[in-house]
Amino acid sequence: MSDWSRRPGVAETWEGIDTIPDEELWATHERRRERLVVFARRRLARQLEQRGASARDIDRARGVLNTRALTIGFARRFATYKRADLILQDLERLKAVLLSAERPVQVIFAGKAHPKDREGKDVLKAVVSACQREELRRNLVFIEDYDLVVARYLVQGVDVWLNTPRRGMEASGTSGMKVVPNGGLNLSILDGWWCEGYRPEAGWAIGKGEDYADHAYQDAVESSALYDLLESDVVPLFYGRAADGPPRAWIARMKRSMRLLTPVFSTNRMLWEYAERYYVPAARCYERLSAGGMAGARHMAAWKAAIRRGWAGVQVESVEDASPGSRRVGEGYDLAVVVRLGSVEPKDVAVEAFHGPLSATREIQRGRAVALLLERPLGDGRHRYVGSIPCQRSGMQGFTLRVRPSHAEACELMSTGLVAWWRD
Ligand SMILES: *Cc1c(COP(=O)(O)O)cnc(C)c1O
Repeated sequence: MSDWSRRPGVAETWEGIDTIPDEELWATHERRRERLVVFARRRLARQLEQRGASARDIDRARGVLNTRALTIGFARRFATYKRADLILQDLERLKAVLLSAERPVQVIFAGKAHPKDREGKDVLKAVVSACQREELRRNLVFIEDYDLVVARYLVQGVDVWLNTPRRGMEASGTSGMKVVPNGGLNLSILDGWWCEGYRPEAGWAIGKGEDYADHAYQDAVESSALYDLLESDVVPLFYGRAADGPPRAWIARMKRSMRLLTPVFSTNRMLWEYAERYYVPAARCYERLSAGGMAGARHMAAWKAAIRRGWAGVQVESVEDASPGSRRVGEGYDLAVVVRLGSVEPKDVAVEAFHGPLSATREIQRGRAVALLLERPLGDGRHRYVGSIPCQRSGMQGFTLRVRPSHAEACELMSTGLVAWWRD
């Protein structure tokens, strides 16, 4: 497929991943890791030089890291919620993982703290000081001045991308997505994009999405889960190789991650989706409203003003269950509703039953609206509507009713912000 790079958001583009020979993918990946290691050494030496370190220290910096070792990357702003120091919670346990003679592991950190974020700077200090410990300095490296250049080397060269935010705080975690098309595997808390992206066969999840009230306890549990994963899953998979062959189970995981996640978590896909769902309809709407010297916009503005004036008189007056009780899946739940519209006309509203499965606290979950139809006017601004709620699943279901303004030319469903819900 010659135009594959122009169609990254399409699943078929990535299906060819499986036909890449393991040896070739692995050789390319190892070359990227080597480039990252060489880059990190150079940056580290430069950092020391700029700080006026001794010639011996600068020279030693050129010998850190190992081009063949399992390489974990952690790079981001050092906002405290990102918990860069989670992997440092138990240094003895970390040491045992990193310093294995046959199966060495190394972590490359990069990041910046906001100058006014004192706690963030404390985390950064803790990371830097761990990286300076004599026994760890070959396997833990901190690169200063995290920027696009550093990020590029990292996302291309790491084997594992680590993300350990405090759950609920990570909006997205885009750096994890950048690793995917480069063949890196994600090891992350189920937060941000990883809640959607995680597949057991294409990466690792720390925990199962638990929430904690006690932060210190959370850090202890989650760092321990992280070491468990490294010891029993990540490291054995990476070093599981026959003689001098490539790690086939690891490569299979790389391929699955690339094939399944790249088409979904890409800017290309996102932009297409925004364009199709929002930008293009919005542009069409603008054309419609602005045509004829803004005639459409004037008309809509007058309509909205009239609706607003009359809206106080709109209410759901009464609801009749045609026959209360239980229903079988596939049947419908018929109802009739009397709605008071006052000066607002039936053509300007939609009357809807809003329904869905009930939670334990009797709230409607994943609700959907179904339109009711005007049966007849009852006089005095009152109208009778009828309809049927489809019963599509078993268990407790709930419904309520709403009246909202409706106009064929309106650009959004709720463009007036007005809704009259049933209060019984
Ligand atoms: C990707 C990237 C980020 C954002 O990463 P998050 O995981 O979303 O925090 C920040 N800085 C640089 C240089 C990046 O490349």
